[in-house]
Amino acid sequence: FRKKEILATELIEKIIAGDKVALSRAITLIESTNNNHLEKANAVINGCLPFANKSVRIGITGVPGVGKSTFIEAFGKHLTGLGKKVAVLAIDPSSTLSHGSILGDKTRMEELVKDENAFIRPSASGESLGGVARKTREAIILCEACGFDTIIIETVGVGQSETAVHSMVDFFLLLKIAGAGDELQGIKRGIMEMADAVVINKADGDNIQKAKMAKVEFNRALHFFPPKSSGWQPKVTTCSAVTTDGIAAVYDLILEYISHTTTSGYFDAKREEQNQYWMLETINEQLKNSFYNHPEIIKQLELVKQQVLNHEISPFSGAQLLLEAFKKKT
Ligand code: GDP
Repeated sequence: FRKKEILATELIEKIIAGDKVALSRAITLIESTNNNHLEKANAVINGCLPFANKSVRIGITGVPGVGKSTFIEAFGKHLTGLGKKVAVLAIDPSSTLSHGSILGDKTRMEELVKDENAFIRPSASGESLGGVARKTREAIILCEACGFDTIIIETVGVGQSETAVHSMVDFFLLLKIAGAGDELQGIKRGIMEMADAVVINKADGDNIQKAKMAKVEFNRALHFFPPKSSGWQPKVTTCSAVTTDGIAAVYDLILEYISHTTTSGYFDAKREEQNQYWMLETINEQLKNSFYNHPEIIKQLELVKQQVLNHEISPFSGAQLLLEAFKKKT
């Protein structure tokens, strides 16, 4: 026990001193599914917590191919050029489903990776989106304690991953490309509603005109949504991640949002609300885990599933049976 505590303290000290290797190790620790690591992981998170919270957290989503990696690379370089320290985390539920990831295993953001003031970490993997999201949420705290003042969380439009990212960031950015007049098709309404900005990427060469038209169309569409509780009217802008035109303007827009919401008190209120949400989410997640990992449930689950399959018992009494077994043994 003592040894564990010393290691946790060491990790915390190194993280706070800005050591990226220690940061990586700590994230690996919180991603571990080994129950013995949990205590130490929690100690590290709690130790880092007083040094966290001083950052801007930006969520970026968009379908595969829209240019997320290229954009984050250009955007990240712009930020480090301004003296910022940028951490890029990802939530990719596809790595859980298919053991291959949509965000890609290819070497991404080659320039940013080499940047001393950047830290890039691929998505955690796990049993569920909830689990992956919680680990990312905890990784944010560690990155902030390590001195990263801008945290980018990237995700791809799969399932509920945007909602998960939205619940842990200050600013949510939807990356799009211009199509031939079908800009608004194929976007889940919910995602448009969450967006604080729609950025139309690949506005270069022959695409510039189309991107400008898409901008008009998105602007029009966004005005039909009910006003946001932040009081912020979502903005639409165009950029090219390749030429970097418009990248600086995206950051300016985010700064404008921060200034707007800090003045109104919304910025801090939203973070408090997110903290509450994550506490409850963590309870949900851990209850679920302790249920499914319980020896008695592992023993009985397949059997009861089979009984339901054979119509010997109803799904509800099957569930009841297992929950009772769980309660009795805990
Ligand atoms: P992701 O799947 O969303 O991460 O997209 P990538 O960043 O991998 O980009 C997909 C493709 O679009 C790549 O071939 C990029 O070179 C290209 N791309 C990304 N951004 C731009 C841009 O601003 N302009 C142009 N012309 N191509 C881009």
